Amino acid sequence: MKKYLIETHCHTDESSNCGKMPAAEAVRLYRSLGYSGMLISDHLHNYTFRTLKKSNPNPTWEEKVEYFLKGYKSALNEAKKYDDFKVYLGAELRFDKNDNDYLIFGLSEEKLLKLNGIIEMRPEKGLELVKSLDCAVIQAHPFRDDCVVMKPGICHGVEVYNGHSTESRNDIALEWAQKFDFIMTSGSDFHGGTEPNGGIYVDVMPKNEDELRDIILSKNFELKTNEEF
Ligand SMILES: [Zn+2]
Ligand SMILES: [Zn+2]
Repeated sequence: MKKYLIETHCHTDESSNCGKMPAAEAVRLYRSLGYSGMLISDHLHNYTFRTLKKSNPNPTWEEKVEYFLKGYKSALNEAKKYDDFKVYLGAELRFDKNDNDYLIFGLSEEKLLKLNGIIEMRPEKGLELVKSLDCAVIQAHPFRDDCVVMKPGICHGVEVYNGHSTESRNDIALEWAQKFDFIMTSGSDFHGGTEPNGGIYVDVMPKNEDELRDIILSKNFELKTNEEF
């Protein structure tokens, strides 16, 4: 078994409408459970900005990014207190077009600022833009009821273990990924209220988002799943 456990799919109360646990609390919880790090993957789609629009009806993209980063920044501040836990910026991107979700690895604040207008783009075009910024794209839970699996060649891989909902049909996602030899990830899709149950085991802790993306692209990791998987 590889040494370090990293969450790849986690939402915060600050930046995801459906998130129920403040980011700092989540950091403490994950650390207490033996995780060494976590990707904060708040929802990057228009639903996220509804709360912001109550106080700011016409936010600029910069203001939206600032709102989106709240959970990540809070997690980062908490993680700075420990020398054995790291927080990485990620996103779970959804376009207006449909209810598909895409986990993004290798993100930065600068890259996010370059994504103005992405949510309204055609998914294929938007994902091309994300990939052109050296990010890895993993389709999250592609076999949930409201999702449509993306045709091969668009994403780098698929999430084969999603710990949030049995409707994710992880068994089918796994078969699909194996058929095309895709990168396969595992994530809790943590929203608070339940115990984290997914993630990846790595040999060396990535120092930053770019190194985590490189690990994902190299397939040099193992999956944490529940026993039934
Ligand atoms: Zn959610
Ligand atoms: Zn999610």
